[in-house]
Amino acid sequence: MHNIYNSKKSLVITGAGFSKAAGLPLDNQIMAEIFSRFSKIEPRAVKYLEKFAQGNLNIVDIRNSSIEEILTKLQVLEYYSRNIHKNDIAEFKLIVLKFLSDLLKIEIANLPAEYGDFMNLFHAKSIFATFNYDYLFETICNNLKINWTYLPDSTTETNSFGSEEYFQNFCFDDFINFEEGDRTPVPYLKLHGSYNWQICWNCKKIRMIPGANAGMSTISKYLIGHRFINCMEPECVKEDSASPLMSPLIIPPTLIKFYNFKYIRSIWTLFQMSLLNIERVIIIGSSLRDEDLLLLNSLSCLNIKNKSIKELIFINPNIELKSKIADLSDMKISHYSHLKNYLAQKK
Ligand SMILES: [Zn+2]
Repeated sequence: MHNIYNSKKSLVITGAGFSKAAGLPLDNQIMAEIFSRFSKIEPRAVKYLEKFAQGNLNIVDIRNSSIEEILTKLQVLEYYSRNIHKNDIAEFKLIVLKFLSDLLKIEIANLPAEYGDFMNLFHAKSIFATFNYDYLFETICNNLKINWTYLPDSTTETNSFGSEEYFQNFCFDDFINFEEGDRTPVPYLKLHGSYNWQICWNCKKIRMIPGANAGMSTISKYLIGHRFINCMEPECVKEDSASPLMSPLIIPPTLIKFYNFKYIRSIWTLFQMSLLNIERVIIIGSSLRDEDLLLLNSLSCLNIKNKSIKELIFINPNIELKSKIADLSDMKISHYSHLKNYLAQKK
């Protein structure tokens, strides 16, 4: 495969549809998957979910409901109901997110060849951004021995990521300007966070942990499996008491999203700056939903914001979305139903 795109700069944006070919469940399959995997291991927690959803969320069949519907109804309940005990709501949310994070740890084996082909073609000159919390991109890169980074320098592995100094010293030009044949790690912006990014509620520092160790810190009266991910920062480790628990830094999959984490907003800033500096945008498996205001705002009038963009490639089986992205960006769109069709015409 001739790698003509190495000399250009692309921004690749992936949504849930990107992970579908790897066998990761979509929004409306997640609860069914949770019930089939955890009913036997965590029977009390699963029963609690079912009972709470029927009694408080007006969801009769939680197994066949979308996780977004469930968490959004929970959010509304949290804001507008005075009758439900806050602890019950917190318990429900904890259990759902715990199961969800365990689910995404699925071993991704036998990846379809399209992922490797795509990454080989684009990794050297692209910035990647995603709305997914899963570890698919990381797995693909690890398989291909491609260096990647959540932010573009080696301090990413240390606790300095996310600190005040990190963003103060951050140089966007280093991030965007790749040399030909450079071994610079591929930047991967996780715009809605990741299950292996843990944040401490006390010191607010962030720690990256391997995907296999990721997940929720859980203390629940319904869950059998408790686990604790503790903060290791010197200011938080005390001899006489347990250090604070860390939780995943994610924007939960609800209809109403709050971008109230400073680190997530910093990543969005990098994303928006990337959009202004590249020559090609490739959007794979994102449904461009109206409520994802930050994304829509970033893509709107793209032709005016960045006149260097030559191509906007939209990969999604839903052809109706093509006119939406065309209207939004005011650009001509190349549409492909699946990643493999796009790759086939490049061979
Ligand atoms: Zn801490």
